[in-house]
Amino acid sequence: MRLRKRVVLATALQISLLLAGVRPGDEVIVPALTFVATANAVAYVGAQPHFADSEEKTLGMDPSKLEEWLSETAVVREGECFNRRTGKRIKAAVAVHVFGHPVDLDPLLEICQRFKLELIEDAAEALGSFYKNRHVVGWGRFGVLSFNGNKTVT
Ligand SMILES: *Cc1c(COP(=O)(O)O)cnc(C)c1O
Repeated sequence: MRLRKRVVLATALQISLLLAGVRPGDEVIVPALTFVATANAVAYVGAQPHFADSEEKTLGMDPSKLEEWLSETAVVREGECFNRRTGKRIKAAVAVHVFGHPVDLDPLLEICQRFKLELIEDAAEALGSFYKNRHVVGWGRFGVLSFNGNKTVT
């Protein structure tokens, strides 16, 4: 049997979510501005995407809005984050480096650590992008790139 050589990013995202411990019924935070694959990957593992506001400067997830929302809505119990309104577990956040603009990773990582969320970087559009002199992708628990022909790799 031949191995498939190309794993599409949506699949890599899905695998990252599973490895991060996302289970059916969980909620996962994704940015409001992204390609549909980000939210699809969340849906493919049976979780529910929850859309977070984007920031004007980076076009990515807005750390201060996320913090505000989590402070109002989330509660950490026994090392896990729960949405007080829905009762569901919030397990992870997927940050997207939109059009190659790196999101502000430091505050996002700090917030995710405080609220016990795994941070996954969707860097489909950000091959060659740097945050604080280090390539994006290596900051979160998982980072994924895309080798699709319509992305920066070509
Ligand atoms: C294109 C894109 C994807 C999907 O990548 P594929 O390799 O085509 O599956 C996922 N997320 C974002 C932000 C994208 O732009």
